[in-house]
Amino acid sequence: MTPEQREVVGAAFASVNKTVSRYGGRPLPLDTSHLHLVMRSDLPDDERTEFAGTSGLYNSNSQEMFVLFSEEDANSKPKLLRRVVHESLHFNSFQSISVSADRVIRPRHEGMMLMQKDGYIGSWLDEAITERMTMSIVEDRLANDENFRDDFTRRQELMASAIIDSARE
Ligand SMILES: [Zn+2]
Repeated sequence: MTPEQREVVGAAFASVNKTVSRYGGRPLPLDTSHLHLVMRSDLPDDERTEFAGTSGLYNSNSQEMFVLFSEEDANSKPKLLRRVVHESLHFNSFQSISVSADRVIRPRHEGMMLMQKDGYIGSWLDEAITERMTMSIVEDRLANDENFRDDFTRRQELMASAIIDSARE
């Protein structure tokens, strides 16, 4: 992790902690040992295909989060902020486990999602709430932070010019 990435990740963790505290929760002491930044090009072929549409993952069993990047967005501070905030919110969400008769531990509840033998219930609701909170933390607070303001302004300018270019075609 580069010094710039450490700065971004630290700001993301601090901002999530503030939000969790504001809602009466006890923020988890997350640090960079809980986070893996992964370049898609480093993944084996089968995993690159499996995670093609995924920008991040939280694994409650291993207590780790993974943020995925491609060559073109590897240096984007806004994307790193957004992805780390999102996965950190999953990390901080309500969780429970079940232990089967043969002593196998499985996640039971994560946030608003309930795990069952044949799949998940409520993952769409959990993702919607997590992403809404992510938007609120990143766009309302971090985008105006003096350390990141220029990156967000530049991103908006790029998006605006892309819209103008596509309207011309
Ligand atoms: Zn998510």
